[in-house]
Amino acid sequence: MARSTDIIIVGGGMVGASLAAAVAPLGFSVIVVEAWPPASSAQPSYDDRATAVANGSQRIFEAMGCWEALRAEATPIRRIHVSDRGRFGFTRINAADHDLDALGYVIENRVIGPVLWQQIAACDNVDTLCPARVSGIEIHGEYAEVELSGEDGSSQTLRAALVVAADGAQSPLRRMAGIDSETHDYGQSAVIANVSTSQPHENEAFERFTDHGPLAMLPMSSQRCSLVWTMAPEAAEQLLGNSDDAFLAGLQQAFGFRLGRIQRVGKRHAYPLRLVRALAQSAPRLILVGNAAHSLHPVAGQGFNLGLRDVAVLAELLAGTRGNDIDPGGDDLRDAYAQWRAQDHARVIRLTDSLVRLFTNPLLPVKAVRALGLLGLDLLPVAKAGFVRQTTGRAGRLPRLARGLPLS
Ligand SMILES: Cc1cc2nc3c(=O)[nH]c(=O)nc-3n(C[C@H](O)[C@H](O)[C@H](O)COP(=O)(O)OP(=O)(O)OC[C@H]3O[C@@H](n4cnc5c(N)ncnc54)[C@H](O)[C@@H]3O)c2cc1C
Repeated sequence: MARSTDIIIVGGGMVGASLAAAVAPLGFSVIVVEAWPPASSAQPSYDDRATAVANGSQRIFEAMGCWEALRAEATPIRRIHVSDRGRFGFTRINAADHDLDALGYVIENRVIGPVLWQQIAACDNVDTLCPARVSGIEIHGEYAEVELSGEDGSSQTLRAALVVAADGAQSPLRRMAGIDSETHDYGQSAVIANVSTSQPHENEAFERFTDHGPLAMLPMSSQRCSLVWTMAPEAAEQLLGNSDDAFLAGLQQAFGFRLGRIQRVGKRHAYPLRLVRALAQSAPRLILVGNAAHSLHPVAGQGFNLGLRDVAVLAELLAGTRGNDIDPGGDDLRDAYAQWRAQDHARVIRLTDSLVRLFTNPLLPVKAVRALGLLGLDLLPVAKAGFVRQTTGRAGRLPRLARGLPLS
């Protein structure tokens, strides 16, 4: 006997949990299925990374009612310094020049997870099933049925008008639904760690393009910086195995002395970097959000922010179905969602992909062009304003939550 609900969200990571928290006030009955215990250290979304939450995403969190709980742990980014190691081009982006208090906020994923899950737990109409994995999906005319497998070998069937796949870049649900994806392997890994420096960051972030890939130092709480350092996978493996002293010496050489001496490093992890793009945003009774739809290179910190805008748009479209006799899993809603998201997806994927390709191209003429590009960005206020609008999540047709408005 299948258990019925309005919406099933598969994946309770950063994006799936955000969606559950965003749609809860609309009164739908929602079930979140997550493979790992809620916001536990094993859950891959809430690991040792920190996320640069763009200014536009902060507004979404505020309108969803979870910013108050995040604010104390969020470090504002007031300036960004972008440079090309060993070359003359550089640019500075200052929040105040764009009438913003902050370009974004750095928050540890381990902080975001519990805040979202506590918000969900406080909603009577949202139920969570975890640890449980989705092992199959069947589409019928008016509903979809999702098959769950528990850790003990038990199984359960759920039925809903709409199923949302928020199950990450490898999205088992996307594959089960027969939606193809394309993958581009960048042949790079990102090494992440928290580091302490002898000079305070003063809320400035640094994005430095090196011959081996981009290196970002983001300002964090307790005067630490969150490091995202991109390089060939073999070099990343070697760095993980290095002593702290050897690691710090290599980092100092790549980053320079803009923050003085880099004194301490915490736990290090490496992530292989790929662009994964679903070739369709939906199938009957199924919509993809977050990494299940698009998994990006972390340069410019856009992946989660793009996923949170998926959430804001889907929540707004679902709000429009309430009391209007519109099927929340019907083709009209799916089409409206895909149409609304297409431009933002295309723009952000193009931006991050071309940044990676341009700044890791070893050919001399390309190096010269990118130096000129950075200089041009610095000298052309209109180009810079457009770049800032896009990367802070304030470009194109914005959903209500991203404008700081309630859903209805
Ligand atoms: C090094 C690095 C740094 C980054 N920095 C930034 C940044 O600064 N800013 C930014 O915007 N983005 C950043 N990103 C990208 C960001 O982390 C991702 O876009 C975001 O975490 C995606 O969240 P998600 O919920 O879509 O997917 P995931 O985080 O992958 O979550 C998927 C969830 O689904 C669950 N799941 C999977 N399969 C099943 C199943 N069969 N049944 C049930 N549950 C299942 C998983 O357990 C998991 O909890 C970074 C990425 C990396 C790698």
